[in-house]
Amino acid sequence: MAVVNILSVLVYLYCIFGLATMTLETKDDSLIGWLVYAELMGHGIIATYFLGSGSGFQYYIYILLLIPFFVTTYTIPVHLLRMVGVIVVSLLLEIWSQNHMPMIALGSTSLNALHYMNLTLSLMMVAVISYLYTLYGQIYQNLLFEKSNNDPLTKLYNRRYVDEMFENERIRHQDHESTFALLLIDIDYFKKINDLYGHRCGDDVLIRLACILKEHVRDTTIVSRWGGEEFLVVLENSTENELVAIAERLRRMVEDTVMHEAQSIQITVTIGGAVSQAHETFQMTLSRADKALYQGKLHGRNQVCLA
Ligand code: GH3
Ligand code: MG
Ligand code: MG
Repeated sequence: MAVVNILSVLVYLYCIFGLATMTLETKDDSLIGWLVYAELMGHGIIATYFLGSGSGFQYYIYILLLIPFFVTTYTIPVHLLRMVGVIVVSLLLEIWSQNHMPMIALGSTSLNALHYMNLTLSLMMVAVISYLYTLYGQIYQNLLFEKSNNDPLTKLYNRRYVDEMFENERIRHQDHESTFALLLIDIDYFKKINDLYGHRCGDDVLIRLACILKEHVRDTTIVSRWGGEEFLVVLENSTENELVAIAERLRRMVEDTVMHEAQSIQITVTIGGAVSQAHETFQMTLSRADKALYQGKLHGRNQVCLA
């Protein structure tokens, strides 16, 4: 039993080290899954063989039924096979224990103590595994949300997020529509930046502009990368005057900032703005903001135009 215990400790140390060095994205836990399976199964069988089922070591085998929650790299047939393995081994152990005396006969006090200890520990393990399962679920959910709703370059919300936000809003406020305002911000002559300094430099400028936009609006204001070198800012309950003031502040901030220190790049932006009107959908307001932006481009760029 001492040898079994030493081997168990080594297996768990390896597993803890393996899990600690794994990231969520490079997660390949199939070896760890098999090691834990072999350890709990082997330990349960050997301990039950020597001490009988009264010792409660077989409870640890039952915990293996929870492993599919965690080890995601196996196929469903492998999971099913392992579950059947757990059930068959557990039944055989129980039958064997009913018909054989244990190899080591412990006194009833020691056996009872061992039984309660193993029962308590295995139930605690089930509780911890259930908790971790919920925790992992939340981590994955957050990761998935981030990947599907954020632009990988600027880390701003992406178009899908804004579209879905307005779709959900529309469903929630079917009778009384809430007002919102949009600013469509487009970098002037951005193609030239790419041509002159390279695409990488262009990317850096986009990242810097995203930071500036985020820093200079309220926390509740949504800043998104609408596509390419276009950004969409969504504000709640703004009047036309407020919208122009915010847009002007952003435009001047961009104009006065060196966007790329090493190459001393400065840029300007043209901004088209629109405040939603009664019964207007997001797409309709956006289309007006887009037209305003086009007017701004037409009239010389580096300016704010309101629809
Ligand atoms: P305008 O003032 O009329 O807006 O001119 P512009 O050059 O900014 O507009 P145009 O639509 O001609 O070019 C947009 C450029 O933005 C072309 C494209 O290569 C560049 N671009 C789009 N997405 C990215 C990106 O993710 N990274 C970089 N570096 N460039 C991008
Ligand atoms: Mg553009
Ligand atoms: Mg542009």
